Amino acid sequence: MAVYKADAIVIRSREYGESDRLVTLFSREHGKLEAIAKGVRKPKSTQRGGTQLFTYADFLLYKGKSLDIVTQAQPKESFSHLWEDFDRTIAASGMAELLDISTTREQPEPELFTLTLSFFFMLKHLDPYIAQAAYALKLMDFEGYLPVMDSCFQCAKDLEGEYAFLSTEAGGFLCSVCKNNQIVKPFSPGSMAFIRQLGKVDFKKLDRLRWNKKMREEILEGLGFFCEEKFERKLQAWRQGRELWKD
Ligand SMILES: [Zn+2]
Repeated sequence: MAVYKADAIVIRSREYGESDRLVTLFSREHGKLEAIAKGVRKPKSTQRGGTQLFTYADFLLYKGKSLDIVTQAQPKESFSHLWEDFDRTIAASGMAELLDISTTREQPEPELFTLTLSFFFMLKHLDPYIAQAAYALKLMDFEGYLPVMDSCFQCAKDLEGEYAFLSTEAGGFLCSVCKNNQIVKPFSPGSMAFIRQLGKVDFKKLDRLRWNKKMREEILEGLGFFCEEKFERKLQAWRQGRELWKD
């Protein structure tokens, strides 16, 4: 099968050569894909819209030797609200890059596809950073690396009302004794209560949650740190977001 279809979202798009784009797609059928979209940076290209970051489109791809080639891209949703303000762009970029680093190519994960699509739609009305954190927790849960949040990962001490310390080395939250000299990110009791709630909330009720600046900073900082260390990759949008969370 040289030509195949993909119902997919563009999760990364970068310039390639003189007029091409190298796109990373996350598709319902095949999981993550990488492909070249030829000539899309030329003004007259008909595929231009379909290969922009965050676009949801019907793709027709040609199976190449090393990289596949986008032969058609019919946009279904361009998610213009994700470009309307910088916070939304950063939150959606943060979701896209986390999805990119935590998945392998051509491994179908339809739940992750649906999750991402839903969050891109929900970003229209949700607090973008609460959405980003909720998405990260759900994704970590799907991929099997969501830390246990109720008790210390090492000594099982109940962490209710306590300061907790997130450690990638340990793979979870630690109490103040077990954290020892590990590199950790601290979570205050308020942030721990919020993140526990965020981990199990029904998405329809996400708009009711409120957090303060300290919780936002600790939670996003902690999750970004944990995932960066785990995959040994930098999360650029999460780093950029840092300046915004603090305001
Ligand atoms: Zn402990």
